[in-house]
Formats: sequence, structure tokens, C-alpha cells
Amino acid sequence: MTVGIHRDNVAIVLQRPRYPENIGAAARAMRNMGFSQLIVVSPGIWDEERIRRLATHAAGPVVDTIRRCDDLQTALSPFHYVIGTTARLGGQRPVIKSPEVLAQNLIPLSLTNTIAIVFGPEDRGLTAEDLKYCHQTVNIPTVNFSSLNLAQAVMVICYCLSTAGRPDLPPPTPRLANRAELDRLDAELTETLVRIGYVNPENPDYWMSRIRRFFARIGLRAGDAGILRGICRQIRTYGERQYAEGRQAEKSSTGRESAF
Ligand code: SAH
Repeated sequence: MTVGIHRDNVAIVLQRPRYPENIGAAARAMRNMGFSQLIVVSPGIWDEERIRRLATHAAGPVVDTIRRCDDLQTALSPFHYVIGTTARLGGQRPVIKSPEVLAQNLIPLSLTNTIAIVFGPEDRGLTAEDLKYCHQTVNIPTVNFSSLNLAQAVMVICYCLSTAGRPDLPPPTPRLANRAELDRLDAELTETLVRIGYVNPENPDYWMSRIRRFFARIGLRAGDAGILRGICRQIRTYGERQYAEGRQAEKSSTGRESAF
């Protein structure tokens, strides 16, 4: 028995798309490949007539159920695994250069986790800040000219996901922490590591991006994120208590001195 991707657990997220036609064409590509969850974050123009013209009647239901969000972090918060798509190679972040390999990897994940695939705006693509939320990045290989039209990029990814299959049921990946849980951990860990002097407050992202990549690689579960947050809180409480006790000791020794 061949096992494919669990389509209901996959959403396509368009971050700041500029042209309504691309939203419509992306909806159509999704409909062709059997995907239905489309999230649009902060579109340049929202013009339903222009969207529907390109979506065609068949993808009407995808357009009807589009979820609109004001920011990417909120849009991604319920998802357990986030993939960023990029036309650009280079930079520190490892990029999977094969949508087919990505699709194979996502099959077991999709059985138990919700997955968001994020596409960037037509002019600039996803920013470093957007990629912060992504567990992995994927590139569609091209020849010489790397930048695909947004909706065509959606089509290639949906096609690869849709046609991927594994000969037998892979062991499902356990349920991972969702983005909201990871974002809370990220905030607490950054604060703690800055306070204990491990991370430079001027440029916390330098180290945090490495730690984020490490977490993405090992696949934290909700309970793991909870333990790490608990450790952070305990470190801060310990530091505050030591500081308060030090102040107290300083005061009493000053008091004693003044008594002499
Ligand atoms: N000029 C931008 C490309 C934007 S194209 C840049 O240099 O990054 C709009 C979006 O389509 C991209 O953000 C990405 O999500 C997707 N896309 C375009 N070409 C792609 C490629 N070769 N591989 C993966 N995604 C691609």
C-alpha cells in the first residue's frame, strides 16, 4: 500500500502577495492538486474579483475559505511544522534543493502534524525575519534564472507533495510543539540567555538563529518546549534570588560598618 501526504494537514501560506491574480492562480493550482487550506497574510491589494478571475469557478471553494491574517507569526502559530520556499541559495541556512525529497520527508510528519508551506512576496521573497519561523527551507531547482512566478512556485510544490508516495506506512513523526509554543520558548530563552550574558543584547539573533536551527533539527515536542521554558524561568528566579540576597548582605554589612 502506498502512503501519500495527508493533504488536510497541509496549508499554503502567501506572505504579503502583491497581486490578486497570483492569489487566484495559487488557489487554482491548489485545487488541481487537492489542497484546500489557503492563508493570505497582509496582501498588497485585496480584490476578490481579480482573485476569482484567475482561480476560475472550480477553485471557488478554496477562495471562499481563505483565511486572512495581518502578520505571519499569528498565521503560523497553530502549525507544527513550517517550510519556507526560496528562490535564493546561499546564506547560513541549509536549503533542501529538491521539492521531491521535501515531499518524502513530509509524508510521515503530515500524518500527525499540521504543516504550513510559506511563499514570499513577488518582488523580494521571504525576509530573514520570515524565515525565522521556518523549520526548513526548500528551493525549486532552475536553470540560470531562479525566480519563478509565485503561483507557479505554489504549483510545483503542490504537485510534488501530491504525487509523492512511500511504499509502506512510515512510522508517524510524534506530535511536535506548534509555532506558538516555540515562539514562547524563543522569547523566554532569548531573555534568559541575554540576562546571563550568553547572548549579546545588541545582536541576539546571531546566536538565537543557531539555537532555533538546532531545535528545528531535533524536532521539539510540546512537553520538551515546556521543560526548557521551566528551566529558563528557574534560572531567572535563581539569578534574581542571588541578586536580592547579595544586596541584602551588602546592606547588612554596610549597616554593621556604620554601627562601628
Ligand atoms: N525575487 C524574489 C523571488 C520572489 S518570487 C527573490 O529573489 O527571492 C515569489 C515567491 O515564489 C518566493 O518568495 C518563493 O516563495 C517562491 N519561489 C519563486 N521561485 C522559487 C524557487 N526557485 N524555489 C522556491 N520557491 C520559489
